[in-house]
Amino acid sequence: MDTIDERRAIIQPIARSWYPQQLAALDMLRFDQLHPIISGNKWFKLRLNIRHAIDGGFKTIVTFGGGYSNHLIATAYAAKMFGIKSIGIVRGRYHTLTATLADCQNAGMELIFVSNEEYERKEDTDWIRELASHFDELFIIPEGGANEWGRAGAGLIDRFVKQDYTHIALSVGTGTTLAGLRNKLDSKQHMLGFVPMKQGTYLKDYITEHLHADKNTNWQLFDHWHLGGFGKWNDELLHFMNDFYRTTNIPLDIVYTSKMMFGIRQLLAEGFFAPDARVLCIHTGGLQGNVSVKDKLDY
Ligand SMILES: *Cc1c(COP(=O)(O)O)cnc(C)c1O
Repeated sequence: MDTIDERRAIIQPIARSWYPQQLAALDMLRFDQLHPIISGNKWFKLRLNIRHAIDGGFKTIVTFGGGYSNHLIATAYAAKMFGIKSIGIVRGRYHTLTATLADCQNAGMELIFVSNEEYERKEDTDWIRELASHFDELFIIPEGGANEWGRAGAGLIDRFVKQDYTHIALSVGTGTTLAGLRNKLDSKQHMLGFVPMKQGTYLKDYITEHLHADKNTNWQLFDHWHLGGFGKWNDELLHFMNDFYRTTNIPLDIVYTSKMMFGIRQLLAEGFFAPDARVLCIHTGGLQGNVSVKDKLDY
């Protein structure tokens, strides 16, 4: 598949048998269906960045990520799709490439490996230009697509979210998607952000900083369903994912969306939602990352 068709992002009701409690609606917005690799929210964070790069006459996109980064691989594929060169600055040195990094290379991305200490300079434009000096006309996208184009692109998700949803749930990494979408949704709609890492509530500051004053309301972060930390998992989570797939026919990813739905189930059990709540869970994709556990999943 070499295009992104946003009509593939259907809204699917989650099977009633998964949540015996009464709830007016529990639906999943399937952004995992957009593209096998450029899935989920990454496409929305990239689309205005790429358009801006093309309109500005830039020939090469530079971006950042770790060895398992959904953002890095989405950028590699999207750049290729639009005929732009791409460079990925990778945190850490790898003797053997991860499956994600190998895929980035196969999509034509040039990888530049830097140490963890060097990676700290990822916002230093002069350093980036020096690293990539063999290319000119660089368009720099920060880690996770966390810039104004990323947030504006995430805001475009609002067209998939009907006004009668009372709660919108999504996974949070940098907070870019949550901030961008919060700014566009009706301020009466509650946004629930699920953070898959320890002590992730520091993201509150970044999100608050990028919200319009009248939209800085009705949103909250949950960071207690990290299951050991970012990228960590246990048998309980795998069992949960397999069971969720059997019941709903929806595959979740091991890093983000599985922990969100794990949290949602907990909230349901605690009676967090009123019986007339209409909840939309956003499937932000990330399924490519499941290669690392593919022999443990039934899908
Ligand atoms: C990157 C990613 C997120 C986090 O998005 P942010 O905009 O960085 O908060 C959530 N879910 C998945 C599957 C992702 O790949």
